Amino acid sequence: RFGARPWELDAADSICSQCPVGCNITFNTRREARSDGRIVIKRVMPRQNEQVNEIWMCDKGRFAYHYVESEERLDKPLISKDGKLGKTSWKSALDLASEKLAEHKKNFVVLASGRLSNEDLFNLKSLADMAGGKAVLYSDMGGGDVTTRVGVSAGFDLGKLGAGDAVLVVASDLYEEAPIWWLRLKAASERGAVLIVANPRETKLDKHAQFVIRYAYGDEAATLEDLKGKGKIADAFAKAENAVVFFGSEGLGLDGSESLAAAAADLLKAAGHVGKANSGLIGVWPRVNDQGAWELGFEPVGDLAEELKGKAVYIAGADPAGDDPALAKALKGAKFVVVQDISLTATAGLADVVLPAQAYVEREGTYTSGERRVQRFHPAVPVTGESRPDFVVTSQVARGMGYILEGASASIAFDYLALDVKSFEGLNYAKLAEAPDQWPIVGRSDITFGGTCYDNKSGLGAQLTSAAARGETFKLPAVKKTKSLRPKEGELLAVPVTKLYDQGNTVLPAALLAQRIGEPTVTLNPATAKALDAQAGELVELSWSGSRAEVRVRTDESIATGVALVPRSFGLTVRVPVVVTLKSAGKVK
Ligand code: SF4
Repeated sequence: RFGARPWELDAADSICSQCPVGCNITFNTRREARSDGRIVIKRVMPRQNEQVNEIWMCDKGRFAYHYVESEERLDKPLISKDGKLGKTSWKSALDLASEKLAEHKKNFVVLASGRLSNEDLFNLKSLADMAGGKAVLYSDMGGGDVTTRVGVSAGFDLGKLGAGDAVLVVASDLYEEAPIWWLRLKAASERGAVLIVANPRETKLDKHAQFVIRYAYGDEAATLEDLKGKGKIADAFAKAENAVVFFGSEGLGLDGSESLAAAAADLLKAAGHVGKANSGLIGVWPRVNDQGAWELGFEPVGDLAEELKGKAVYIAGADPAGDDPALAKALKGAKFVVVQDISLTATAGLADVVLPAQAYVEREGTYTSGERRVQRFHPAVPVTGESRPDFVVTSQVARGMGYILEGASASIAFDYLALDVKSFEGLNYAKLAEAPDQWPIVGRSDITFGGTCYDNKSGLGAQLTSAAARGETFKLPAVKKTKSLRPKEGELLAVPVTKLYDQGNTVLPAALLAQRIGEPTVTLNPATAKALDAQAGELVELSWSGSRAEVRVRTDESIATGVALVPRSFGLTVRVPVVVTLKSAGKVK
């Protein structure tokens, strides 16, 4: 607090990278004696975009930027020799990476996450296509192939939803996963929109909803199927002028979320809510640019460990080995591993070649939000060591393999992307930078908002079109029947849920958030806790499918008995619903 005077600060416009809302922000920076004279981020402020975050941002976005300044940042390429990584030149690292990936190109996988920009992902996907490899999205959530078809499209504005409109939120706790969407839906409900919340347990959005639907984990798609029938809720949705569905992945793995997305699209289509300006589907994705990755053709796979085994793997912006020991084992069985990342992750530790990437605050690029809005970010701080932007590194790897990709300018890489991908047609950096006047006027000399939010001078971005909005004929995936997951007598069913503050690589380094991040937990209905002889606050041991972890018990009366909520990104590998056993670790604190 009071680490700098406002008049000492420089400002760089950017996009928050912590969730799919894509809030417009401004980084304030200053050269700092305490940081050895480096220019560092001193604070993060919201920047007005009435169609995205209005004038707000959440605490996570404000404080979880420290990973970009972490001690673990990579500043030089590394090559593994005799099982040890050592620093090397860019030339040696690129030559080796290109040579080995070319040698194994019949057996080549690109694994990337939605943490990367559109330009980065476009180059990676192009390389995979040219070399005959596979582009895999590092994610356990499916349904992006559906949002490209019936997702919200150009002209969409959550701020315009009100009386006569309907919003359904299913399998997502927006307060934890995308706080500004929570805020904007609360406001839509206050303006008269019918808000329907469907989740197996209570969430903070429930009290603003006109209708709350409870279902058992596993019954997500079936619940939406029921909404195609008759009844008060079904009628409110079907008769709405505009209707939007937010679907998440609470309690779901890849298959379950794919099935839910298909069911949501089916519901929207049946009620005539696709291809209209203020209607459609929105994925509550785990990462900022997952929607962009789907638009560019990346897709997750069901068995990632199997996909990696025996392959030449090029991993960018993902840490599978850090997240799951089974994936670390699979990588040890890969033919050759190239890792491109900003930090020395557990996955980088297993690589044959490590290529240092710039953090997004050190370069320019674009992200596509869950509302399918493409927005630009700009450099805020100087580059770390010899790191380079991801799209540049990929173009250099590709060149060594005999393929030409844009590697000099992010805006030209974006131009190629817009020529190639239909939903981006007609977009370019100049269009994304258009900044018409917005109301209310903020960040100037007005006394209400001046000083709390920046005026938007560098662009509101632009939304992608969907296949439905373009009037194309398209097929939606069939809704797969999923098994109801009601736990049997004496069984404990663990389901993965998303927490706002987790131990992921982009949150954990934020010292200011340490207390809010906390430790791994298991949340049970008090009756379940009692039946298992576990007390709230007690440390217990959870075991499942050959894995074990110590977690602290929490209780929540709104959870069904026999169900255990296990948070994602806390080092626990519960990625799909799984039966677990719980026993007291005998360490009550
Ligand atoms: S809502 Fe999401 S994008 Fe917005 S500030 Fe919070 S974490 Fe960042």
